[in-house]
This record gives sequence, structure tokens and C-alpha cells, in this order.
Amino acid sequence: MTLTFPAMACLLMVTLGYAMICAVSPFTNCRKCRGFGFLMQQNRKGRLKRGKQCRRCHGHGKRIRVGRWLFNRAHRIHREGSQ
Ligand SMILES: [Zn+2]
Repeated sequence: MTLTFPAMACLLMVTLGYAMICAVSPFTNCRKCRGFGFLMQQNRKGRLKRGKQCRRCHGHGKRIRVGRWLFNRAHRIHREGSQ
């Protein structure tokens, strides 16, 4: 009972912080290749070399954040519905 308000405040802070991150930088590094755009492979000597192009981000190394994707979609639906 007494922890309800701090828990709500904490959740609100996290949500607002994520919304601010989505507004400031809508793109972040690809989770699979960590922003390289390609996968790292080891050759037989154990040295790292450039592997295949990342299939998830198609080689550009960036992905759109989930919150920004939702915002873009909601914004587009609102704009197309209100004109
Ligand atoms: Zn990638």
C-alpha cells in the first residue's frame, strides 16, 4: 500500500525517460551486429575478419527504436485520418 506511489513514480520516470530518448535519437545500433553492419567471423588462425552483411539491418547497422516506431505509426494514422 505504501509502496504504490513510489512504484508509480518510478514507472512514470522510466516511461518519460524512454520517450525522451526516442525523441532525441530515434535510431540505435542494430542488436545483431552492434552497429557494424556486418557479422564478425574468425578465420582458422583465430583472427577476426569481416563476415556476411547483416541480414537484420541490411548492412546499415541501425535500427529504429520500438517507441519511435509506435509514435511514427500513430502519428501517420492520426494525420491520414484527420485530413
Ligand atoms: Zn545489423
